[in-house]
Amino acid sequence: MRGVAVLGSTGSIGRSTLAVLARQREHFRLVALTGGRNAELLDAQRAEWAPEFAGLVEAGPASTMPGGAGVLLEAATHPSVDIVVNAVVGSAGLDATLAALRAGKRVALANKESLVMAGELVMEAARTGGGELVPIDSEHSAVLQCLTGHGGTLERLILTASGGPFREWPAERVAEATVEEALRHPTWRMGSKITVDSATLANKALEVIEAHFLYGLPYDRIEVVVHPQSIVHAFVEFVDGSVLGQLGFPTMELPILYALTHPARLPDAGVARFDPVGAGPLTFEPVRREVFRTFAVGVAAGQAGGTAPTVFNAANEVAVAAFLDRRIAFGRIAGTIQAVLDAHAIQPATTLESVREADRWARRLAHEELT
Ligand code: NAD
Ligand code: MG
Repeated sequence: MRGVAVLGSTGSIGRSTLAVLARQREHFRLVALTGGRNAELLDAQRAEWAPEFAGLVEAGPASTMPGGAGVLLEAATHPSVDIVVNAVVGSAGLDATLAALRAGKRVALANKESLVMAGELVMEAARTGGGELVPIDSEHSAVLQCLTGHGGTLERLILTASGGPFREWPAERVAEATVEEALRHPTWRMGSKITVDSATLANKALEVIEAHFLYGLPYDRIEVVVHPQSIVHAFVEFVDGSVLGQLGFPTMELPILYALTHPARLPDAGVARFDPVGAGPLTFEPVRREVFRTFAVGVAAGQAGGTAPTVFNAANEVAVAAFLDRRIAFGRIAGTIQAVLDAHAIQPATTLESVREADRWARRLAHEELT
């Protein structure tokens, strides 16, 4: 019986994780839960699961639950926890990823922003802390599933992208897309930040950077192809030219369960069984880089290395929040991020202080760009 902490249990991935755990009660015990500010839902989850620890980061004064950012660290390093599912959105997830790895836990990572902000530090914590980093992101889970048993012979990764809601829209129309249009994702139901990231394709740039750190490949061996059906989650090419792919109907519950069980598998009646005919024709097309500029800007930041991906991530978070608040047009997201990156003097991202400083600096500049 392995103990599990779910950070961000009130969000989309957090709720899917609890759905998986509800079917796997003989194998996993839910030990700790944290939420951001949804006290009502966290209370309901606490009543249902009776965890040893539950904390709400933004607990109000009337709350009976522990509050503050420290609750993430407490859950992430709890002694009865073996696996930490980090399903927090954004840079708020970084400290818990590092703390859990340093405490020797397996981190099942949905919070890709941790790796983009501080990839070198996170990978070092995984190497030296005795813990283990296993991705939840469906593309990276697909890569891991294809690679398991084939160590050392990887040549190239091809991550798939749904293309988002604006895949076929003319560029001028994309620039004026509304919040409602951006939140209407064709194949995945997710939290609002990642849904906007999927519409700009910033999400795919974050994922290329995530793959670079997780699998240690240079950027010229990580490619992206648009695949609107979201059936093939990634392709892996080996040195002999053979290609494996991982397929399935889009559901995050499968990669969540795999992150808990890797390299083993458990039966799961909750996942829709694959039907090749029902999946329909599978199509692939190139990314329209000139329309989805955030993608190219993000990959270039990854290539530039050091604090550039930290800055990309921070500027993107600020620009997306401004778009969701209806303060800027969809078309301004890419330009804002680019302007912040252009003004940035890249530093090595080998200390937490340099990462934090770059993150703070980028947020400040992005806010200035937007006012
Ligand atoms: P969400 O917005 O639905 O949930 C986010 C969770 O984080 C909530 O529980 C919220 O309370 C918590 N949170 C927000 N701000 C916080 C803060 N400052 N401190 C502590 N907790 C905070 O988002 P989601 O769709 O579940 O995505 C979570 C993460 O998983 C993101 O990094 C996303 O990129 C990644 N991811 C999501 C999907 C998906 O299908 N939803 C797929 C792949 C990766
Ligand atoms: Mg993904």
